[in-house]
Amino acid sequence: MMSRKIFRSSFFTSMLVLVATLALITGVLFEYFGVQLQNELKSEASYISRALQNEGISYIETFKSSDKRITLIANNGEVLADTSADAKVLENHSNREEVEEAIATGSGTSERYSKTLMEKTIYYAEKQEDGTILRVSATQQSVIPVLLGLMYPVMIIFLVALILSLVLSIRVSKAIIAPLNDLDLNSPENNETYEELTPLLRKISVQRRQIDEQLKDAQQRQEEFSLITENMTEGFLVIDDKTNLLTYNTAALNLLGIDEVQKGSVLMVNRTKDFREVVEKVLTGERAINALETENRAYTLIANPVYENDKIIGAVIVILDVTEQTNREKLRSEFTTNVSHELKTPLTSISGFAEMMMAGGMPEETIKDFSKSIYDEAQRLIALVGDIIKISELDERNVQFEQETVELCVLSKMVAERIKPVADKKNVNVNVIGSSAKIQGVRKILEEMVYNLLDNAVKYNKDGGVVDVIITNTDDNVNLMVRDTGIGISAEDQARVFERFYCVDKSHSKLVGGTGLGLSIVKHGANYHDAEISLQSAIDKGTTITISFKK
Ligand code: ADP
Repeated sequence: MMSRKIFRSSFFTSMLVLVATLALITGVLFEYFGVQLQNELKSEASYISRALQNEGISYIETFKSSDKRITLIANNGEVLADTSADAKVLENHSNREEVEEAIATGSGTSERYSKTLMEKTIYYAEKQEDGTILRVSATQQSVIPVLLGLMYPVMIIFLVALILSLVLSIRVSKAIIAPLNDLDLNSPENNETYEELTPLLRKISVQRRQIDEQLKDAQQRQEEFSLITENMTEGFLVIDDKTNLLTYNTAALNLLGIDEVQKGSVLMVNRTKDFREVVEKVLTGERAINALETENRAYTLIANPVYENDKIIGAVIVILDVTEQTNREKLRSEFTTNVSHELKTPLTSISGFAEMMMAGGMPEETIKDFSKSIYDEAQRLIALVGDIIKISELDERNVQFEQETVELCVLSKMVAERIKPVADKKNVNVNVIGSSAKIQGVRKILEEMVYNLLDNAVKYNKDGGVVDVIITNTDDNVNLMVRDTGIGISAEDQARVFERFYCVDKSHSKLVGGTGLGLSIVKHGANYHDAEISLQSAIDKGTTITISFKK
C-alpha cells in the first residue's frame, strides 16, 4: 500500500518535472531563436542600407522572393517601398513602435503577435543617412507550432523519460520501504533505520514494555487464580448472565463426572432439574442452594450472584461433595433404629419371662430355666449397651483419646490371656506369634479391636480349632493378622460383615453372644488409627483378617 503511494507520488513528480523541463527548454529555445533572428535582421539591415546607398530604391525589388520583408519608409511615415505589398496601399507607418523609435534614436525593434498567437513577427528599423527608415522584419513561428514541429523527437524523449521514471520510481519506492519492512518491532530500539522514525520506535518500545508488563501481571493473576481454584476440593464454576460457562476448576469436572467442557451454557454441563433451578434462581439475583444427587454421590450446590454496578453480570457456583456427611447421617439414623430394635428384642423376652413367672404356679425347674433365660438376655443387653457405648465413643470425633506407644505383641498376648477361658471351653488353641512391633495409638481402642477379632475367631471356630495372631514388621507397616480355622465367611457376606448389626446367621450369633457390632468396632478403630483392613476367608476353611498400621 505504502510502496504504491510512494511510487505514485514519485512517478508523478518526475513526470511533472519532465513536462516542466520540456516547457522551459522550449521557452528558452524560443527566446534564443528570437534573439538570433533579431541579430540576423540587424546585420541584414546594415547590409541592405549599404546596397541602397549604391543602387537606390529599386534594390528593394530584388528581395521580393526573400523570407524577410523589407520596407522603406519616409520619415513622415509614408511607405516608399515594400517587398510584400504595394507601397501605395499601405497606411502611414509613422506610429509603428519600431519606426517611432528609429526616428527618435536611429534604430528600433518591436515584436508583434499575430491574431492567432501562432506567429510572432520581429521588426528592426534603422534610420538611413538620407532620413528614410529601413525596416526589416521576419516571422518566427510561435511555441506551439515549434513544439508541434518537434513532436516526434519530443515524443521519443517523453517515452524514454516515462520508462526511466517508471523504473526509477519503482526502485525508489522499494528502497524507501525496505528498511520499514525490515523493522524488528520486537526490539524497536535496536533498528538501524531512518532517524525520523526514532521517536516512533521509542514510543513503540515503551508501549511494548507496558504491554509486556500488563500481560505478565495478568498472567500472574491468572496463575494465582488457578492455583487457588485447582487446589480446592470443592467444584468451582463461574458463569455469565446468559448461563455461559466462563471458568471452572478440575474439581468441578470431577464432581460432575465429566471429562471435558464445551463452550457454551453451563446447563449443558449438568442437565438435572436441581442444577437448572440453582442457575435460574441465582441469575435472578438471589443466593441459591440446592442438593444434587448422582448415582452414588451427594452434592450441595451453592450459587452466589455477581453484581457490577447493581446489575447481575453472572454467578459463582460452588459444588460441595457431601456424600460422606450424608452417608454418616444415614448411618446414624439407621443405627438409632437398629439400636432400638436390638434393645427391644431382649427386653421383650425378659418382660415375657417375668410376666409368666409373675403368674406363678410353675415347677421349680421351669422357674430356673426362665431365670436363666432372663439372665442370658440381660447379659446380652449389657454386652450390647457396652458395644453401643464403644461405637458411639469412636463415632464422636471430638472425644480425645490419649496417644501412646503401644507394643502390639505384648498387647495381643494380654488379650489372648483374657480370651483363654472362652477358648478353652471351645477347645480352641490361641497362639500369638511375632517379635516386637511398636505403633503410636490408643491402647484402649487397640485392645478392643484385638479382643473383637480374637473373640470372633474363637466364637466362629470349630471344636479343636486354632487361632493364630501373627504380628509382622515391614519397612512401612506393622501388620496384625488374626487367622482362624473356623467356619469362614461367604464371598457375598465378606463385603457386609463390617456393617453395624450385620450378622451372617442371626440365631448362631445370638447363640454365641454376638451383637453384630464387633467388626464394626474393629473397622472404626482401624479408621481411627489410619490403618487398612483386609479380609480373606473361605467357607469351612477359616478366616484371616489383617490390620495394617502405618509406621
Ligand atoms: P457379632 O457380634 O455377631 O460377631 P461382628 O460384627 O463381630 O458381629 O461380626 C459380624 C458377622 O461376621 C458375624 O455375625 C459372623 O457371622 C461373621 N464373622 C465375624 N468374624 C468371623 C470369623 N472369624 N469367622 C466366621 N465368621 C465371622
